[in-house]
Amino acid sequence: MHAPGRTAGARVSRAPRERGRDDGRDADGFRRDAKKSLGQNFLHERGVIEKILLAVDPKPGDRIVEIGPGQGALTLPMLDRHGALTAIEFDRDLLEPLAAAAQAHGALALLHADVLTVDFSALAAAGEGKLRLVGNLPYYLSSPILFHALDHAPAIGDMHFMLQKEVVERMAAGPGSKVYGRLSVMLQAECTVTPLFKVAPGAFRPAPKVDSAVVRLVPRPPGAAGIADRARFATVVRAAFGQRRKTLRNALSGLLDAGAIEAAGLRPDARAEQVPVEGFVRLANLPVEAARTGD
Ligand code: SAM
Repeated sequence: MHAPGRTAGARVSRAPRERGRDDGRDADGFRRDAKKSLGQNFLHERGVIEKILLAVDPKPGDRIVEIGPGQGALTLPMLDRHGALTAIEFDRDLLEPLAAAAQAHGALALLHADVLTVDFSALAAAGEGKLRLVGNLPYYLSSPILFHALDHAPAIGDMHFMLQKEVVERMAAGPGSKVYGRLSVMLQAECTVTPLFKVAPGAFRPAPKVDSAVVRLVPRPPGAAGIADRARFATVVRAAFGQRRKTLRNALSGLLDAGAIEAAGLRPDARAEQVPVEGFVRLANLPVEAARTGD
């Protein structure tokens, strides 16, 4: 990480920092040091913020929920455009200054919570329409947040996330790619995954050591992937990629035998990275009895 500088987001129109003030906070009340442990890399590049807003393109009535609003780099311009949104922030130190900053921009419902404990289905049920999730995500928590969102996919209309570029590549990879894996299969089974654009480290303060990218995820209608049992599907995919270099026959031993793998239209000597998403759906949908006996 680079040394933390002024960690302001889109606050250009706000009061300049007071000279001589040194309580560790800037004139807007935000701490000047970003918390590495919370994945705080605050966006400051206007062009990138604008591109994200264009990609999200909020429409009247949309229920936008931002994950990790930080100092408001996306929140405030989104409020300017959309008037109201909900944001979930874990860092208590950010809440007061962010709420104060938001006042001049729109109605911000700020939830102090770990996003992984937020029940998006209940949040959606409390109003009308699906949620649109947006966030420059804390990178240390990317996969857990993606899997948490998947658990609530029927409540979510779409998601626009900034993530580490390599993670976006894994999310969108197809069979045969070196980075095709559990994340690719689990996400693509339930969502369309569209990488949108890359973002260089200099767009953030402090600058992360990695490149970033913005991705759009749109959950498919419930049942579209044909998965009979989500837990079973997750178990089969995890086992298949848990031992990446092994053949399906070996990686899935204990769950499915060679006959069952053939019954799903796959070769037992294939490797997980060669199997398309539908192949995993067929494997997971085999009746458990047939899976054991190969009938
Ligand atoms: N959206 C801001 C921006 O673009 O400048 C901040 C993005 S920063 C990469 C990630 C944000 O997620 C930080 O504000 C951090 O405090 C917050 N965060 C970290 N862990 C979180 C969690 N478990 N739940 C909710 N927010 C979290």
